[in-house]
Amino acid sequence: MSQSFDVVVIGAGPAGYVCAIRAAQNGLKTACVDNWKNPDGKHAFGGTCLNAGCIPSKALLESSEMFRKTQHEFTAHGIKVGNAQMDVSVMQARKSKIVSSLTGGIAALFKSNNVTGIRGTARLLKNGSVEVTDSDDPKKKDILEAKHIVLAPGSEPVELKIAPFDREQVVDSWGALEFAATPKRLGVVGGGVIGLELGSVWQRLGSQVTILEAMDNFLFMADQQIAQAAAREFKKQQLDIRLGAKVTGVDKSKSGISVHYEDKDGKHDIEVDKLIVAVGRRPAIQNLLEDGSGVKLDQRGFIQVDEECHTGVKNIWAIGDCVRGPMLAHKGSEEGVMVADLMAGKVAEMNYDVIPSIIYTWPEIAWVGKTEEELKKQGVKYKSGGFPFAANGRAKAMEAAAGMVKILAQADTDEILGVHIFGPMASEMIAEAVIAMEFRASAEDIQRTIHAHPTLSEAMHEASLAVDKRAIHAINR
Ligand code: FAD
Ligand code: NAD
Repeated sequence: MSQSFDVVVIGAGPAGYVCAIRAAQNGLKTACVDNWKNPDGKHAFGGTCLNAGCIPSKALLESSEMFRKTQHEFTAHGIKVGNAQMDVSVMQARKSKIVSSLTGGIAALFKSNNVTGIRGTARLLKNGSVEVTDSDDPKKKDILEAKHIVLAPGSEPVELKIAPFDREQVVDSWGALEFAATPKRLGVVGGGVIGLELGSVWQRLGSQVTILEAMDNFLFMADQQIAQAAAREFKKQQLDIRLGAKVTGVDKSKSGISVHYEDKDGKHDIEVDKLIVAVGRRPAIQNLLEDGSGVKLDQRGFIQVDEECHTGVKNIWAIGDCVRGPMLAHKGSEEGVMVADLMAGKVAEMNYDVIPSIIYTWPEIAWVGKTEEELKKQGVKYKSGGFPFAANGRAKAMEAAAGMVKILAQADTDEILGVHIFGPMASEMIAEAVIAMEFRASAEDIQRTIHAHPTLSEAMHEASLAVDKRAIHAINR
C-alpha cells in the first residue's frame, strides 16, 4: 500500500515530533514515523528525551535531591524527620507515570494537529520514497511518498568494546534510569553530563559512586573556573571523580565487577556492583538509508547538512542528534521548527551561537555562549564579572549559597559573549542570559534592568555590574 504526504518525518523525538507538529500547523499534510519501544513492549512517541533521557532523569534527580535535603539540609531549618528512607520502587513508579503522561500527550498533540503518527521503522529508499516496516508485524510493509522528508532518528549510546552492555551489571544510561534498588557501589565510565547526572542520583540515594573520566580536565567543554568550582563542591558531596583515567578492562563475577584503569600514577582497580558506561552518543542511522539515497555522512558518522539542515539531496532534511552540533533536545526542536517553516516556504533560521547547556547536578551548571578559554584562544578582548551566591540573600535563605554567576563581555562594545552559572536553579536563571544574548545585549543592558529582590537573578544583575567593577554587594577586584 502507498500513501502520499507533503511531509514525512522519520523519528518522533523532540526534533521529529516538534517538526511534524509545526509542519502540520503550516498547512502541510504530515506523517511522523517512529519505532521506539519501551521494555514493556509498548510503543511510545517522544524518543530518547521523553522515554529514556531528559524527563526520566530529571524525575529521578528531583526525587533524589529531596531525599538528600532531608539528610543534609532539613536540620539547618530545624526540621527533624528521623531516619528518612527511600522506597526506590515508589520513586520509579512516579517517574514512569510522568513519562507515560508526556508520551501520551504527544499522541494527543498529533491527533489535534492532524499529524498522522505511524508506529514503524522507516527507511529512505534511493528513489526518494520511504519504506515503513510495521512495529508489531515485520512482514507488513508500506510505502510513503512525500514532497519533503525529514530525517530525525536521534542517537544511541556509544558502547565500549572492553565493557559491552549486558543490561544487568554493565548498563547504558537507560539501564541506569531503571535500577530497582540503589547499588551499594556504583562505577561510571565517563564524567560528562550523563555520568554526573546519573552518578548524582544514585550517590544521593546512598551509592558509593566512582566516576572514571578519560580527560585530565574536568568538564573540558565548560568554562574552567566554573568547572573547578563545581568539582570542589562535588568532592564535598563525596562524588569520587577520577580524572585522566583510562579504563583498560572489566572482569565480571557474580559478586561484582572489577574495573581496571590506568592514570598518571599507574594501574588501579575498583570493585563495583553496577557499572554505567556513559562515554557519549552517536547517530542512530543503521539501516536508515538505502545505498544510493544520496544522503552523505560526515567523518564522525553524522548526517551531513548545511546551516538550514538541508542534506543537499532535493527536499531531504535532517535534524536533531543525527546532525552536527550539541546533542540537546531544545537544539533538535528548534531545528525542527526551522525546517518545518522552510518547507512551507517561510523565512527561518537558527542561532547556533546561543544554545544553552545545562547539567542538572546540585547545584546546577548552566551556560550559554563562549567560555573564557574559547575567548582567549580566539584572541577576543573581553572583560569578566563574577558574583558569588554566598552574597545573595535568596540563595542563603534557600540554604544553597554555593557557586557563582560569571559574565564575559566584549572589552570595547560591552556585548555579552558568554554567561556561566554554577548555582541553585541555574537551569532557570540561564534563560535571562539567552534572551539577552539573542538580542545582542550589553552588560550595561543587564545592569540597567531592574531585578526583583530577593531573587537568585540578582546574582546575574550583580555579575553584570562586576563586569565594570561596579558590583554593589561584593568587593570588586
Ligand atoms: P531522539 O530523541 O533519540 O528520537 C529519535 C526517535 O526516532 C526515537 O524514538 C527512535 O526510536 C526513532 N527512530 C530512529 N530510527 C528510526 C527509524 N529508522 N524509523 C522510525 N523511527 C526511528 N537533552 C536536553 O536538552 N536536556 C536534558 O536534560 C537531557 N537529558 C538527557 C538524559 C539522558 C539520560 C540522555 C540519554 C539524553 C539526554 N538529553 C538531554 C539528550 C536528548 O535526549 C537528545 O538530545 C534528544 O532526545 C535528541 O532528540 P532527537 O529527536 O534528535 O532524537
Ligand atoms: P558527554 O560527551 O557529555 O560525556 C562523555 C564523557 O566521557 C566525556 O567527558 C569524555 O571525555 C568521557 N569519555 C569518553 N571516552 C571515555 C573512556 N573510554 N573512558 C573514560 N571516559 C571517557 O556524553 P554523555 O554524558 O554520554 O551524554 C551524551 C549526550 O547526551 C551529550 O552530548 C549530552 O549533551 C546529552 N545529554 C544532555 C543532558 C543535559 O542537557 N542535561 C543530560 C544528559 C545527556
